[in-house]
Amino acid sequence: MSKEESLECSFCGRKKAETDLLIAGMDAHICDKCIEQAHGIVEEEVSDAKTSGLSKDLMLKKPREIKDFLDQYIIGQVETKRAMAVAVYNHYKRLLQTDDDDEVEIEKSNIILVGETGTGKTLVAKTIAKMLNVPFSIVDATVLTQAGYVGEDVESILSRLLQAADFDVEKAQRGIVFIDEIDKIARKGDNPSITRDVSGEGVQQALLKLLEGTVVNVAPKGGRKHPEQKFIEVDTKDILFIAGGAFSGIERLISKRLNMQAVGFSASLDEDKVDHENLLQYIIPSDLKAFGLIPEIIGRLPVLSYMNPLDAKTLRAILTEPKNSIIKQYEKLFVMDDVEFSITEGALGYIVDKAVEYKLGARGLRSLCEAIFTDAMFDLPSSDEKEFKVTKNYAEAKLTNTTLKKLRAAS
Ligand code: ADP
Repeated sequence: MSKEESLECSFCGRKKAETDLLIAGMDAHICDKCIEQAHGIVEEEVSDAKTSGLSKDLMLKKPREIKDFLDQYIIGQVETKRAMAVAVYNHYKRLLQTDDDDEVEIEKSNIILVGETGTGKTLVAKTIAKMLNVPFSIVDATVLTQAGYVGEDVESILSRLLQAADFDVEKAQRGIVFIDEIDKIARKGDNPSITRDVSGEGVQQALLKLLEGTVVNVAPKGGRKHPEQKFIEVDTKDILFIAGGAFSGIERLISKRLNMQAVGFSASLDEDKVDHENLLQYIIPSDLKAFGLIPEIIGRLPVLSYMNPLDAKTLRAILTEPKNSIIKQYEKLFVMDDVEFSITEGALGYIVDKAVEYKLGARGLRSLCEAIFTDAMFDLPSSDEKEFKVTKNYAEAKLTNTTLKKLRAAS
């Protein structure tokens, strides 16, 4: 037997003659059949790892669990929390569908949240990302312009996400992007042919592609200012987009529609029962169209929900109830100096009253606390005092009119 003929596959033992191909390695051989088999094993393992990785990270959370998680951080906004929980659950379920599934293709459930500034839109999106442990980035729609104009290209949205994912493309492609102030790119006026509507319809058209899923060449560091850098390809088809906006004045459009419905035969709402204090709860996609979003964008943000305005009761709860509430944070800061911090119900009520009176919203709560506690945070660390009790009188004394006016101007 020649040396050539005595060669065999080191895996299955087949002689060279029994194989179609025998490839030589350092000191072993492998035949075509074993290569095929090994390739199959690799494929299976990789796809298993992908699915189980996904399921471990994401699928464990059912809508109810997602909502429970959100409840720990976000007060009220029940409708939005439920809508978000379902949308996010479906979104990640969609990611788990494999290519060889039947023809029913689940579409993306991008979300649009409508509500006054400071009502928790960003917080909801951020909290979802935290729970899922996926990269998250926030982009302000007002800085986006059509390519070629001064400002940021729509693609810059993805460079931020890529940065948040530490340049791991796979991870970025499963991330969440919050597009703030989406209402600001609404078409100005009803005339669709306004020329050079730089920040309006042109940007909406550019956004559209991202929302529906496209492969984009992204400059890793954002912008096109570094021509020497290579582009990274990012596919947006599995990125969850959450858009938010105050849509100020949209209540008028909703009210107009409701009135028309009420006089028409198709009255679906009894005019007597309409809660005129909170018209946002009746919002439907056509109201967004009337406001100036193009129908294609609205279609790509199929989950529409609204945020309730924050009343005094909600503001009071925001102060102490969330897992990392403002008051809990101060408590922790004082404990680090061995100071026992407490605040009376009267003082908390006073802070809420001032936030309402000066229209400071939830963001203002933090500034109010800061103004009240700063002196103590300055003095106590160098004193022997081991207790700090904040009463209404104390809070009143610290919050001068000048401070309040300043806060209002800043809000
Ligand atoms: P928006 O995006 O709607 O302008 P944010 O999400 O930025 O509002 O909210 C501002 C801050 O107000 C949050 O960081 C949070 O501290 C507080 N906040 C607002 N709404 C809520 C809420 N419903 N529950 C808990 N905190 C809230």
